[in-house]
Formats: sequence, C-alpha cells, structure tokens
Amino acid sequence: MSAATASESFDVIVVGAGPAGSTAALLCARAGLQVLLLERGEYPGAKNVSGAAFYGSAILNELIPNWWEQAPVERYICRRDIAFMSPTTSVALDFHCAGEGYTTPPYNGFIVLRPRFDRWLAAQAEAAGAFLLTSTVVDDVLRENGRVVGVRVRREQGDIRGKVVIACDGVNSFLAKKVGLQREFHAHELSLGVKEVLGLDPTIIEDRFRLSGDEGIAYEYLGAITEDVHGGAFLYTNRDSLSLGVIGQVSSLVERRKRPYELLERFKAHPAVAPLVRGAKLREYSAHLIPESGWSMKPTLYTDGMLVAGDAAGFCLAAGLYLEGMNYAMQSGLAAAETAIEACRRDRFSARALSGYRKHLKRRNVSTDFRAYRHAPAFVNSARLQNLYPEVVASGMEQLFRVDGKAKRKILPLARQMMRQYQLKPGDMLRDGYQVVRAYLW
Ligand SMILES: Cc1cc2nc3c(=O)[nH]c(=O)nc-3n(C[C@H](O)[C@H](O)[C@H](O)COP(=O)(O)OP(=O)(O)OC[C@H]3O[C@@H](n4cnc5c(N)ncnc54)[C@H](O)[C@@H]3O)c2cc1C
Repeated sequence: MSAATASESFDVIVVGAGPAGSTAALLCARAGLQVLLLERGEYPGAKNVSGAAFYGSAILNELIPNWWEQAPVERYICRRDIAFMSPTTSVALDFHCAGEGYTTPPYNGFIVLRPRFDRWLAAQAEAAGAFLLTSTVVDDVLRENGRVVGVRVRREQGDIRGKVVIACDGVNSFLAKKVGLQREFHAHELSLGVKEVLGLDPTIIEDRFRLSGDEGIAYEYLGAITEDVHGGAFLYTNRDSLSLGVIGQVSSLVERRKRPYELLERFKAHPAVAPLVRGAKLREYSAHLIPESGWSMKPTLYTDGMLVAGDAAGFCLAAGLYLEGMNYAMQSGLAAAETAIEACRRDRFSARALSGYRKHLKRRNVSTDFRAYRHAPAFVNSARLQNLYPEVVASGMEQLFRVDGKAKRKILPLARQMMRQYQLKPGDMLRDGYQVVRAYLW
C-alpha cells in the first residue's frame, strides 16, 4: 500500500467492488467525499458470479445516462422463457416483448458478464474520484469507543481510517458478522450456483435462438433437471457465448449427496437443452453462494460508523419468478451512499445518525419489495414447487399430447391419475395454493 493511502483518512470506506460497492462509491465520490473502494480480487469482478441477467438498467441510467452505450453489455433481454421439466419433456412459458422499454432505451434488462461489467462499473467510481485499491483483503474493522472508525487490511501498515464504512462484501459478509450485525446462515438459507460460459459463434446463437441484432433471451428451468435437489437452472445468450448454470439449495445438496457439477452435466444433456449448447466450447467455470431467504436474513443494517448493503444485507430477491440481486445491490448501495453523504454533511456518525438508511431503502423500493415478497423464498424453496409440480406439469402435457390410437382422456381424469402417480395429496395442494396467494397475489 502506498504511504499516502495508509496515512490518509477517508470520509467513506467501501468494502467490496461488486455492484453494491461500486455504485455506493460512485455516488459518494460525486458528492465530493474522499472515498476508498477496497476489493480483494485482482480486479473488480475477478471473483464475482451471476447469471447474469441484469435488471437494473433504469437505476443505472439515472447515474450514467445511456450507460449501455459505453458499458460492456452482451445483449438486451426481450424474451424470457420459463420451462418446467421432466427427465424427457419440457413445457415452456415463452414471454416475448417488443414493446417500449424492452427493445428500446432504457431497456428492461441486459445480459452481462460480471468480470467485464464489474470492472467497468468500478472504473466509473474511479472516474468520479473514488480511490480503488485491488488485491486488498479487509480483515477487520477498527473501533474506538464502540464506533467503527475504519478497517484493517491484510497489508503492512494496514489500518485505514474512515468516517463511515459501507460493507458491500457479499453474501458471506465477514464485516457484518465481525461487528455483530449479521448472524451465521443456515444451509437452507443459501444456494450454491455453478456456472459455465460456453463460447459459440454469434451467427449460430442468432439462428438457434431466433434472435436478431442485439436481442437476447433468458431461459429459466425448474423440475427434473436438479433431480430431487431444491433448485433450478438458467441459460442466457451472450454476444458470442452462452452462460448457463445450476442452482441448488445447500442443505438439499448435502442431504441428497449431490454434486453441483454433476447436476450441471445432466442439465446440459437434457434433450431440451443439449441442442441449444451443441458445439459450444467451455471458456469459464465458476461457483458462488446466493443468499436466498430474502427478508428473513436481513441483518441489523447499521451501527455506529457502519452500514451494510447488497448481498451482505441479504438483498437478493430469489422468489421463483425473480432472481434479482444485482439491481437490489445497486439500489441498496445507493441508499447507503445517500445515508453516508448526509452523515458527512452533518458530521454525525452514530447509529442514530445513520438510521436514515431505512428511509432511503424504502424510497428506493428495496425494503418495500423484500417485505412484499417475504413469504416467497420459503415457498419457492419447497420440494413440491421446485421439483414436483414442474415435473407433474411436464409429464401431464406429455400424456395430453400423446396420440397412440387409444381413447383420448379428458383433463380431469388425467389430473387425477397424475395425482395418484406422483402421490400428490389434495391437502398439500390446497396449502400450496394458499402459499401462492400469500407469496405473490397480495
Ligand atoms: C450462479 C448465480 C447466478 C446469479 N444470477 C443472477 C442474475 O441473473 N441476476 C441478478 O440480478 N443476480 C444474480 N445473482 C445474484 C447476484 O450475483 C448478487 O446478488 C450480486 O452479485 C450482489 O452484489 P454485491 O455487490 O452485493 O456482492 P458481490 O457481487 O458478491 O460483490 C462483493 C465484492 O466484495 C469483495 N469482497 C468480499 N470480501 C472482501 C473482503 N474481506 N475484502 C475486500 N473485498 C471483499 C468480493 O471480491 C466482491 O467483489 C446470481 C448469483 C449467482 C451465484
């Protein structure tokens, strides 16, 4: 570390240059504060993993107008496909929107590759005046009279003072735990995602997925692909590659003794997936944890001198229809930055002075969304929803469409037969119906 860095005191120290950290650093630097952004990776994004379908375009557009014109984006998302799978069948809900905001600015979503995207975003924070220090692991916080007054990094003369520390250090937030804001998670609250990037010629991608120009598609899969492990899979089209992966609840992977990379191989071999990845060549492999329990894993969000944002605060919405972490990381990063800016203006850094964070999270629709969907994660992570029902739908459709010379069956007798075959109890189905209403309808 340079002598200048070690001796200086910063207004704000942001730990972690993922979407939460870089956005927080960018806003604080624009407000004229002295900002230090610390990242353990060799460069921002080096260790970061997402699918990555990024639905934060409108948010980023507020900060950097027409950001997509300069950022390393792959394709904009104008199609989403949710597929219910049995071992041999796939039934898909195909959403295609050519409407305003999907295929026109500011675009509803983009597929991005995190190593490139995160590096670009951190560079925007640097351009705004933040000081980025990479290959730097934060090992501890500095405290005086119970207040956080800086961090200790794994380097010589590694104590750095700051008026506010914003912990954006991801799902396993060492800092939030160290300060006592976050607890240890249970294995059922975390999922493990394994992901591959497979190189494929852009013309093949466009023909195979019926895309033109910069259009992209996001596939999400539920059912037999993860066997009896609670989870799902995804496949996204990049410019000249495909991103695909399998996500499995950690407790369920352990209980079923399943290895994620074996599930990934089976996923790629599924008859509905194999033709999509044919001829594609492995470029990258990565794995990462996802905080999946939403509102119930939210830590105490601030203490004297410190705020927590992004995955570190559990702000990843994994609610079946949605897997959105990057956009909430940015929204909470911005809310933390706004709180830090106010604190610096007033020169007050107590927990009480930082309590405005709650108001900013609400205004940016973070706490409102997570509260509204608080019942969804537990329901979504149930075996019946993630594994059984999708398989029943796929098998039922297979029988419905089969023409074999026998008398055609009407839907109700077929549904009764499926219930018997899959040992579905009416009571469980009623309970699940109620959970759907509670989780998604109001
Ligand atoms: C397989 C998979 C697929 C996903 N798909 C999607 C998707 O399609 N769309 C979506 O929106 N979300 C997706 N997510 C979730 C999304 O990746 C996260 O919600 C998001 O990355 C959270 O951003 P963050 O900035 O809070 O944390 P992170 O992106 O995890 O960044 C944390 C940063 O902190 C750094 N760091 C950690 N500890 C230290 C330390 N002690 N010192 C210094 N630096 C440190 C890390 O190196 C990292 O750069 C997916 C996640 C996974 C694993």
